[in-house]
Amino acid sequence: MPRSLPEDWILPALDDRTRPFFTSGRLLLQACRSCGAVQHPPEDVCRRCQAMEFETRESAGLGTVYSFTVIHHPVHPILEKAVPYAVALVQLDDFPHVRLVGNVLNVTPREVRIGLRVKANWQATRDPATGEELLLPQWLAVKGAA
Ligand SMILES: [Zn+2]
Repeated sequence: MPRSLPEDWILPALDDRTRPFFTSGRLLLQACRSCGAVQHPPEDVCRRCQAMEFETRESAGLGTVYSFTVIHHPVHPILEKAVPYAVALVQLDDFPHVRLVGNVLNVTPREVRIGLRVKANWQATRDPATGEELLLPQWLAVKGAA
């Protein structure tokens, strides 16, 4: 699926912590090796126990819109043709304390609501500076779900 925002809009910076999340096409979350806490976005230190060793846990990619906003004013000239668009905060079913930000792609901004069931989807793009492929996590409304 092509990007919902313009191709020249900024891409996430990739490093050892963020690369799995933005290139794998899977929802790989950072999990603390010491206490097991799962956190997102990934950081150098566990927010619960301050340990610094991590592994990954994969989410099944199903969730619910916890909150959202509809952007009507383009914050940058590149976004003038993209507005209005909804930015959703999605609470994952399998890691309910983890909430991910993204766009809900298959409904209009007016159809996005708190409680909307969504599933993860990825938008492929390429970093023009490095040539590296990114798979940006986004959301699709699950049709027929409450
Ligand atoms: Zn920990």
